[in-house]
Order: sequence, then structure tokens, then C-alpha cells
Amino acid sequence: MLSNLAARDVETLIHPYTNLALVRETGPLVLERGHGVWVYDTDGRPYLEGMAGLWCTALGYSNEELVEAARDQMARLPFSHLFSGRSHDPAIELAETLKEIAPIPVSKVFFTSSGSEANDTQVKLTWYLNNALGRPRKKKIIAQRKGYHGVTVASASLTGLPANHADWDLPLPGFLHAACPHHYRGAEAGESEEAFSARLAAELDAFIQREDPDTVAAFIAEPVMGAGGAIVPPKGYFAAIQPVLARYDIRFIADEVICGFGRLGTWFGAEAMGVRPHSLSFAKAVTSAYMPLGGVTVEEPLYQAMLDESRKIGTFGHGTTYSGHPVACAVAIKALEIYRRDRIVEGAAEKAPHFQRRLSALAEHPLVGEARGVGLIGGLEIVADKASKRQYDPKAGVAARCVAFAQGEGLIVRFLAGDRIALCPPLVIAPDEIDTLFDRLGRALDRTAEWIRQ
Ligand code: PLP
Repeated sequence: MLSNLAARDVETLIHPYTNLALVRETGPLVLERGHGVWVYDTDGRPYLEGMAGLWCTALGYSNEELVEAARDQMARLPFSHLFSGRSHDPAIELAETLKEIAPIPVSKVFFTSSGSEANDTQVKLTWYLNNALGRPRKKKIIAQRKGYHGVTVASASLTGLPANHADWDLPLPGFLHAACPHHYRGAEAGESEEAFSARLAAELDAFIQREDPDTVAAFIAEPVMGAGGAIVPPKGYFAAIQPVLARYDIRFIADEVICGFGRLGTWFGAEAMGVRPHSLSFAKAVTSAYMPLGGVTVEEPLYQAMLDESRKIGTFGHGTTYSGHPVACAVAIKALEIYRRDRIVEGAAEKAPHFQRRLSALAEHPLVGEARGVGLIGGLEIVADKASKRQYDPKAGVAARCVAFAQGEGLIVRFLAGDRIALCPPLVIAPDEIDTLFDRLGRALDRTAEWIRQ
């Protein structure tokens, strides 16, 4: 019997990324409030939020300073836009701060309202750049299988997960996918991480050659893959592929939507993973998700092309009503101030060894084939047989069942396709809360193993 709110929900809402048939039966988990790393349902039951919402509430819930920043900006100038030469101080100040903390040279910042829009913008800017440079054939974009970049038509085309393609007539032509850099699944027997990286780089080179380098414009990758399963690339991966991209003058975009702002114990994932991209996409933790905000960094040659085109045709024809929304920018400014003042990124780096130790220990569990992570992100790969890495029939829904058991234990973690479970707590999680998270997850895995035996 569903609660009143749950019953009203299933009669009225389409849930994003959800098994709609299942949620109709079980009803959704209706949350009412949050505090620190805890969220509470409508019966007042607490859950440790082991996913920072959707990889985003890095500063936890009920941060009064972020609320105040939004309230002040709402009262002062709740809306203005950046079209046709208008501006406002929150957008200017935020862009200045982002330029300061970015790990690469940034000429300008362009704001969006989400990560999907940020990556959609990256696609358009890549095409725009090559048109401006008189290279109209150089348009193809290479992403990675299991990479996640969003759900707009272009960003879903970048995404390398079947759920984003089947039924949707995607990817669009010209969106290509290279191998997923997952050593556990992709390496040959006895192949070291470094050798696997070198092989992937050689395969990427051959792939670009086959496609014709004059037609390949950009490559996009997450420093650590989130929705694909918290997949950490093998040692030397980015060092091996970057010269290949440089050889063919391919624009390299780092999707920092999850990894940005401290997740890997560095300001950006690029720093932790040795990535030297031309441009970054960001969203989520830039406001600790208190307001929707995303964006992309624009490198100097691209900005020069924009200027030239504007001189010729009069307008840079891209942007939405909410690009640089003042309330979202004001909240982001405050969030970045807190990250700096409270040493949130350094704190994440200090807590990471404890988090990763507890995560690695789960690899001993009979159901866990691989436990992997870096910083405060982690993933588990559920297997039926550790030696052969064989997985359960996807219809059995083993990881989904484990996530449901975790919820029963008062822990929110996320089930991902391929029987994977993701962990991504708020960066402000305390060491004893890390222990609570893993104790509860361990019990959920035990209950799952019992359920399988029955
Ligand atoms: N890129 C990455 C790496 C993501 O994880 C996500 C969302 O989870 C996106 C892009 C899309 O962001 P949004 O859901 O804000 O559109």
C-alpha cells in the first residue's frame, strides 16, 4: 500500500532515468528534508546520502550560507541575462574565480544550466570552431563507451550507454565511441595497466586513421567515469592518448561534471588523472547543487574565432535565457568561497585513504568482483563468479536488489547498468560517517548474498 504522496506521485510524474514499471509498484522514496550528509523521508526516517544526491551535493544539506547567498541575490536581482551586452556582477565574479582555479589556461567562461547543456555547447563550439577555421569536414566527435555526458540530443549522442541510444535513434551520425578504459573488463589476461593503456592509445590512433583525421574534431572523456560505473582509467591512460589527439589536432574536452570541485581530492579531476584538455565542462558541485548551473571553459583560439565570426555576422548565436542565472552564480560564488575557506578539497584528499581502504576491503565479499575508486568516489562490480568475472543475468537485478537492501539499512547508494553500484558521498562526510556508510553497505551485500541463496 503506497503512502498518499507516493500514490499521487505515480499518478502524476515521469521520473528521469527510472524503471517506471517498478516505481509504479514500489512507489518512490519521498524525501522531505536534509541535514549534513543525511536526508529524511516523510516519516522522518534518516538515510546517509551516499551519492551526494546525484554526485553533486558536495557541501551536504542545509548549508545556511548557500541559502543566504540565494536569498540575498533573489532579493537584489532575481533575474537578469547576459544577452546582447547585458551583464551582472555574480556572473562576472564567478567567471573570474573559475578562471583562477581552472587547471588549464582559460580565456572565457560560458554558463549553462546543466551538464547536458554544457556538453551540448561543447559539441556546437567544436563545430563552430572548425567552420570558423575553414575546416568544415572536421566535425566527428569521439567519446568513450560507458562514458556519460548527458541527455540532450547531442550530449546523449556523446554518452556511451545503451539506455541513451536504443529507442532514441541515437547517436547522431558523426558521434563515435572508443573503447572504455576499464582494465578489469577490457584487459587481456596478464596485461598490465600500462600495457593496456598503450594498446588503447594505439587502437585510438588506428580508429582515427580509419575515420580520416581530417574529419575528427574532438575527443571527450570524464577523468574518472561516473555513471558508467565509477571506472578509474588504467595507469598511463591519459598520458598515452593525449599525444594521439595532439598529432591529429583534435580538441580534447574533459567532462568535469562529476570530478570537478574536489571529488578526486583535487580541484579538478584533470589534475588527479594527468589530463591536459583544451576545455572543461562543469556543473553539479559548482553550486553544491543548490541551484542548477553548468558551463564550459573557452580557450583563447576558440574565443578569437568567436570574435572574428561576430565581426563578420554580428552575433554569437548560442545561449539560453538562464545562461549565467544570477541566483545560481551567486550560490556558486559562495560555494567556491566555502571550498577555499574550509579547505574542502584538501579535506577530501585527507579522507580519501580511509574511504578507499574501506572500499577496497569490500573486494573480499563473495559478490564483489572489483572495488575501485579514487578520492571520495567508488564503484563496486557485482559478479556471480570472481574467477571468470561472470555476471548475473541482468534480469535478476542483483545490484538493484543490493541498493534496495542498502536503503532498508538507511543508506542511499546508486545502482548502475552492468550490475554496478556507485558511491559518491558529500565531500563534507566525517570519518565516522564513512564507517557508517561502509558498515551499512557491507550488511546490504550480505543480505543480497542471502537473497541469492534462497
Ligand atoms: N556529464 C557527466 C560526467 C555527468 O555525470 C552528468 C550527469 O550525471 C552530465 C554530464 C549531465 O549533467 P546534467 O544531468 O546536469 O545534465
